[in-house]
Formats: sequence, structure tokens, C-alpha cells
Amino acid sequence: AKDEGRGIFKYFSDDLTIAARRRLNLEALLRRALANQELKLYYQPQVDIASGRIIGAEALLRWQHEVEGFIPPDQFIPVAEETGLIAEIGEWVLREACRQGHAWIAAGLPVLKLAVNLSSHQFRHGDICATLKTVLQDTGFPAQRLELELTESALMEREAEAVLILQKMRDLGVGLAIDDFGTGYSSLAYLKRFPLDVLKIDKAFITDIPQNEDDKEIAAAIIAMAHILRLKVLAEGVETEEQIAFLQRTGCDLYQGYYMSPALPATDFAALVQRTA
Ligand code: C2E
Ligand code: CA
Ligand code: CA
Ligand code: CA
Repeated sequence: AKDEGRGIFKYFSDDLTIAARRRLNLEALLRRALANQELKLYYQPQVDIASGRIIGAEALLRWQHEVEGFIPPDQFIPVAEETGLIAEIGEWVLREACRQGHAWIAAGLPVLKLAVNLSSHQFRHGDICATLKTVLQDTGFPAQRLELELTESALMEREAEAVLILQKMRDLGVGLAIDDFGTGYSSLAYLKRFPLDVLKIDKAFITDIPQNEDDKEIAAAIIAMAHILRLKVLAEGVETEEQIAFLQRTGCDLYQGYYMSPALPATDFAALVQRTA
């Protein structure tokens, strides 16, 4: 039994070493990426379900490394979170989105809103409101057109202050969305305490619509309850006509998904908006 235990330990420690090495490697790469401007923002349209019109976009990070190729955000954001590098990356994302948004306004592009993801680290550390204020001032992007996406876990981690921080953001004029709803604590009663504008239903509940009856009922219930709380509802990961039809029937306000478009480079997004305006 003793040998067996050591064997297991050895197995796990090898495994951890590989993971740790990969992590260190990724961290070093990521630091260079930030310095070398290998990070890009792509824009995925947000669509009004009733009119079919694009009303804005979510900015999504892309990392194109010249040797390693494309590295998906699900791989590098967790590393950036753990190392604290997300503070710099997150501020860059905010600034870049606002810079681009301002350029689009100046060019007369009819885009109303840009949504930016805020990591829980950004929410926990530093003064996010001060950063926001500076970035909005520097770029000239109107606060009313900016929406910040927060996860339930970010709000839970700073529960006591969360309401106050959100209120301060609201006072600046920015909109607030709860992201990936349904994957975390998912208590609507709890959400009631936060000054939010939009609830984003996680794509896990949308993917199997219309085949999955449970998912349909869950999505319909979330939409109905969110409306009681006077939140707009956005469905993520919408890929089919049937899903649109279902969401229209259930009164969902907005959607994002491959049905309209994946996230696109800025110039391609602007072209799509112009084509569909
Ligand atoms: P998220 O915020 O939930 O973003 C939505 C993800 O779903 C994106 O993946 C998007 O490309 C993908 N998606 C959109 N439509 C569809 C669809 O119809 N079908 C399917 N199967 N997928 C769809 P992406 O871009 O790989 O981003 C993954 C996650 O990385 C994001 O999830 C977000 O949590 C994080 N992330 C991305 N950019 C940033 C950022 O700038 N800051 C922070 N903190 N996190 C970011
Ligand atoms: Ca998001
Ligand atoms: Ca999401
Ligand atoms: Ca997600």
C-alpha cells in the first residue's frame, strides 16, 4: 500500500510539473505578447431579436503568436488571472475597445454599444472606477455606449463592496451585464441587489434548443424572471434559425452567436454593420 501511495504521488507530481512548466512558459509568452502587441480585439455582433439589427458588439481578446499560432482566450486568461497580468491586459482591452469605438463614431458607423469583459481580478484589485474614468476621458468614448460584463463569481468574491462598486460604475454612466448566467450561483434573488442592465444566458442553455425540453424551460424561466427584475436578456451561442424563433417567442431581447457572425477583426465587423444597416 505504501508503494502504491508513492506511485500515485509520483504520478501526480510529474503531472503537476508539466502543468507548472506549461504555465510558466505561457506566462513568459504572455508578457512578451503584451509588449509586442500580439493581442488583438475581435468584435462579435449583438443583435436585437425583434428587428434583426446589430446594436453593438462584445470585444473578445485574440492572441496570435507568430510561432505558437492562435492561442484561445480560455487558455491564457486563467494564467493572466493567476499571475495578475490580467490587470495590464484588462486595461489594454478597455482602452483599445474605447479607442476603436470612438473611431467608429467619428467614421459615422451606426454602432450603439460596446461590451467589454471584466475579470474578477480587475474587480477585486485596484481601483477599477478610476481606471474607467481615465480611459473614458482619454479616448472620448461616451460612457453610455460602454457595457461591462461581470461574472457571478466576481460579484460573490467582493459581495459586501460589490453593490457599491457597481453603483459607482453606474454613476459614471456605463451599463452593466451579468455574464454566463446559469453557470455559477445563479440566484435571481441575489441578482436583485445589484444595479444591472443586462443578463446574458450562458450558451450551455442555448446549444441544445430546440431538442432539449429542459433547456427550453430553463431559458424561458430565466427570461421571464429577468424581465420581472427589469433586466434585458441576451442569449449567447445562438447558431440556428430555430433558436432565434424560440427566443423570439419567449420574449428574449438580444442575441449573440454564429448565426449572425463569430467575433471579427474590427474592419470586418464595421463592414458587416454597414452591409446590414
Ligand atoms: P464569453 O465572455 O462567454 O464569450 C463568449 C464566447 O463564446 C467567445 O469565445 C465566443 O467566440 C464564443 N461564441 C460566440 N458565439 C458562439 C456560438 O454561436 N457558438 C459557440 N459554440 N461559441 C460562440 P472566446 O472568444 O473564445 O472567449 C472565451 C472566453 O474568454 C470568454 O467567454 C471570456 O470569458 C474570456 N475572454 C475573452 N476576451 C476577454 C477579455 O478581454 N477579458 C476577459 N477578462 N476575458 C475575456
Ligand atoms: Ca462575455
Ligand atoms: Ca458569456
Ligand atoms: Ca462563456
